Amino acid sequence: MSSPSPSPPPRLEVQNLMRRFDGQAVVDDVSFSIPAGQVTCLLGPSGCGKSTTLRIIAGVDMQDQGRIFVDGNLVCDTVFRIPPERRAIGLMFQDFALFPHLSVAENVAFGLSGPASQKRARVADLLERVHLIKHIDSFPHALSGGEQQRVALARALAPRPRILLMDEPFSGLDERLRDGIRDETLGLLKEEGTAVLLVTHEPHEAMRMADEILLMRAGRIVQRGAPYNLYNAPVDRAAAAFFSDVNVIKGRVQSALTPTPFGDFFAPGHADGTEVDIVIRPQHLKIDFDRAGRGPNPTVQDGTPARGVVERARFIGRESLVEFRMDYDGSVLRATVPNVFLPKPGTAMWLMLRRDRCFVFPA
Ligand code: ADP
Ligand code: MG
Repeated sequence: MSSPSPSPPPRLEVQNLMRRFDGQAVVDDVSFSIPAGQVTCLLGPSGCGKSTTLRIIAGVDMQDQGRIFVDGNLVCDTVFRIPPERRAIGLMFQDFALFPHLSVAENVAFGLSGPASQKRARVADLLERVHLIKHIDSFPHALSGGEQQRVALARALAPRPRILLMDEPFSGLDERLRDGIRDETLGLLKEEGTAVLLVTHEPHEAMRMADEILLMRAGRIVQRGAPYNLYNAPVDRAAAAFFSDVNVIKGRVQSALTPTPFGDFFAPGHADGTEVDIVIRPQHLKIDFDRAGRGPNPTVQDGTPARGVVERARFIGRESLVEFRMDYDGSVLRATVPNVFLPKPGTAMWLMLRRDRCFVFPA
């Protein structure tokens, strides 16, 4: 048997990146790597340092500390720096920035070198794959937003960059078109096998596109992993709340348990007396239809039901959002229920929490 070959270095490796503006760390000790063929999303609220990170990798801004490698080769540290045009890194930004005076074909061919016949073939192949071959001789102004976005994608991929950096590439598009264009873009990125770093502030977009998500807050990466892990095992209350609306039930730990109106919750690792937040997404609140009106009758899995009164119910497409005013402390909890469920305001109902879907964090 042959010995296993050493695994190749990651396409992109970022080590301990730091960038300060006016003494303030805007990118604060950021490290990650992306293998070829993987889409990584840098996700976080506006102003958290995503674009700055991208600009440093592209070479249009410079870090105060840290190093960047492409395929194991140093691209820049704080003294050595390969210029942007020699990094084999493709860029795609929100404003597609097509050249208005060049045709679609000329736009896509812009960064290509080599024999004209080869360039023509590459351009035609990419335009075929983004379904724009019939517009090969059109000018950008004659295309819709979605079509321009696909031209920009073809242009960015044409020189076969080792890494493609995308900064909010779909945010200029009509919401109705976005999911279709995201899926199509993802298909092409996967075919090309390039490593992709996509910046977005939209969790839905990150979940739809990413193999791995880097969740960023105030310059730091606070959690990383597959979309499933970030959604189902958030590191803190803010990480949970970034992906959906959440309900919070307050509690205080007593002998490793937190008593609440919904029964006792385990709070391993939290000292007695610690104030905790029990966090649950609206789709994981259960309405106990069977027991409505019959009073509490606890089950092991779902704990103790607590009574609340419907304050408001709205159909929001695919599901209904029901707000309850809870008897125990007058707080509001929101539950989503599949399809149409619109109980009248004032209706009393019993709610339960799915234990396996609750997160317990220190308050
Ligand atoms: P994001 O892309 O996540 O919205 P940015 O990376 O663009 O965030 O910006 C992060 C922070 O750095 C913001 O507070 C922004 O105002 C600040 N910033 C960005 N570029 C500069 C600059 N050239 N000079 C000073 N502050 C900057
Ligand atoms: Mg930005």
